Amino acid sequence: MKEYKIVLLKGDGIGPEIVDQAVKTLRKTADKFGFSVCFDEALLGGSAIDATGVPLPQETVDKCKAADSTLLGAVGGPKWDNMPGDKRPEAGLLGIRGALGLFANLRPAVIFEPLRAASPLKDEIIGDAMDIMIVRELTGGIYFGERGRKEVNGQPAAFDTEMYSVPEIERIARVAFDLARKRSGRVCSVDKANVLESSRLWRETVTRVHKEEYPDVELNYMYVDNCAMQLVRNPKQFDVIVTSNIFGDILSDEASMISGSIGMLASASLGSGKSGLYEPVHGSAPDIAGTDSANPLATILSAAMMLKYSLGEPEAAKAIEDAVSKVLEIARTADIAAEGLRTVGCKEMGDLVCSLI
Ligand code: NAD
Repeated sequence: MKEYKIVLLKGDGIGPEIVDQAVKTLRKTADKFGFSVCFDEALLGGSAIDATGVPLPQETVDKCKAADSTLLGAVGGPKWDNMPGDKRPEAGLLGIRGALGLFANLRPAVIFEPLRAASPLKDEIIGDAMDIMIVRELTGGIYFGERGRKEVNGQPAAFDTEMYSVPEIERIARVAFDLARKRSGRVCSVDKANVLESSRLWRETVTRVHKEEYPDVELNYMYVDNCAMQLVRNPKQFDVIVTSNIFGDILSDEASMISGSIGMLASASLGSGKSGLYEPVHGSAPDIAGTDSANPLATILSAAMMLKYSLGEPEAAKAIEDAVSKVLEIARTADIAAEGLRTVGCKEMGDLVCSLI
């Protein structure tokens, strides 16, 4: 029987509560689909600072590197807000992504049918369904480029540099094309090639990788300003969107709002190997921590992404996604409460999802 080693970085605030529900769900799918999962915990963020003095202990990095995959809750909270930058919980988050060489961030924007009313978009715009995957380059571009201050015409000025190398573009393009092959086979590469030289190289490179390695995938291009507009005008046209770090940062937040609730948004960060880091998009929600009222579905859906993209168990992933869809017709956590449906706590929501798998 296949056994997968998964490291849990429960983190702070609601992190432990939501990760516990995802663990239950993974155990249930393992039983049902004939594989086994073994879990090991490691410290990250505020809890790591309290125990070891640093937000990312070396032991955590070592454990994650040795595992098949990592599931993260969330980090941070008011207790650590006044720590210096490199000692804050969020530094642990950036640190672990860097240490694991995670260069591709996957953010699905999905509308679950029972949550349609929570979307700010009109029914006729959403159509039958919406299921977009945004692939954002995570370790290059303007967020990591040369920056500084200088004087221009005697006045203070500042600059940041957008730069991408061909290998950086090639590897993110391959992630997007591979994903598209597992979905409906379409990639939209988003850039600003009418203005930026870095975008022109991006487009040339994506075009070449497509021609040489993925001719079976449909590829089109869009300028980022048009894409921002099209996401709210006609989101159904998109399957996989691949884009740079800064454009992906903005577009993935825009697309996620279309689905209506922060408690439903999953994400994955992948590197060159099979292993990845899976986490909900939301933070540690200190305002509701310990009250058993957090929505665990984003974390449960992140676990489903792990099954699909790192562990090679797509049927188990689908079973979780289907169970989440079904549970939304029966019960809701407080953040997505609806009239006529029972409001349940975090733990009960996890139990219900398990019972539907
Ligand atoms: P947040 O996402 O934690 O919370 C924003 C609001 O959404 C809050 O009202 C919260 O109660 C609610 N919310 C979030 N997740 C929810 C869930 N699963 N179920 C129900 N309600 C939910 O963002 P914030 O308040 O800006 O940040 C709180 C802390 O989290 C800060 O320390 C911040 O730095 C950290 N943070 C961590 C991550 C991460 O670990 N990836 C991401 C964002 C923020």
